[in-house]
Amino acid sequence: MRVKKYDKLYQLTVFSYVFPISSYVYEENNFLTVIDIGVKAFVKEIFKLSQKLNKKVKFIVITHPHNDHIGGIEEFQKQFPETQFCISKRDGRILAGDYTLDENESQEKIRGGLKVRKINLPIKHVFIGEKIGSLKVIDTKGHTPGSISLYSDDSQVLVVGDAIQTFRGIAIAGDVRKLFPFPGLATWSRENSILSAEKLLKLNVHYLGTGHGNVVEYPNEKILKSINRLRNKIKK
Ligand SMILES: [Zn+2]
Repeated sequence: MRVKKYDKLYQLTVFSYVFPISSYVYEENNFLTVIDIGVKAFVKEIFKLSQKLNKKVKFIVITHPHNDHIGGIEEFQKQFPETQFCISKRDGRILAGDYTLDENESQEKIRGGLKVRKINLPIKHVFIGEKIGSLKVIDTKGHTPGSISLYSDDSQVLVVGDAIQTFRGIAIAGDVRKLFPFPGLATWSRENSILSAEKLLKLNVHYLGTGHGNVVEYPNEKILKSINRLRNKIKK
């Protein structure tokens, strides 16, 4: 397990040269917020961190319910039974096993590793613009219909789940990269993913955290390039 700190953001990574997975802990003044919990190995590390910082875990936010972002939840809820479980209402539906699409949504298939899971924690369906601690919820649909990102104005930290991948180069969700194709292949709508990435460009970001890959500093120029690459692919 690798743990790295960027301002108030801790990145926890189970490193594999094929498929690295990250979970994040954001440190608030009086508590911690966990973002994604792909594997159960993160739980022990989060417990250690919460002891070290002497702060309770108040929220766990799931950016989207793919297995590699929520696979450790059973272990997590045993260890932290008082935490509030946060997910967008839209992706909460997917987590509950409903893979249907609404009429006004892009009619592509919802992809990726999904499993219905029993959540014992109090569930909060977060809305766009809402703040979880100091982290603001941003709609970054595309990878899934209800994917969300979290942003702090104050520390300029942005955590996007799989809306962007940084392992072996920055790519927008839906851009299937040869060296790391998995998030691309698991993406629902490339058009939506581009619109979401464009929205992210308006933010002042110092640290970009993604589900797969290292934290990237001042990523906007690279994000813009990735948007253009995916646009060109779609045109062809
Ligand atoms: Zn995913």
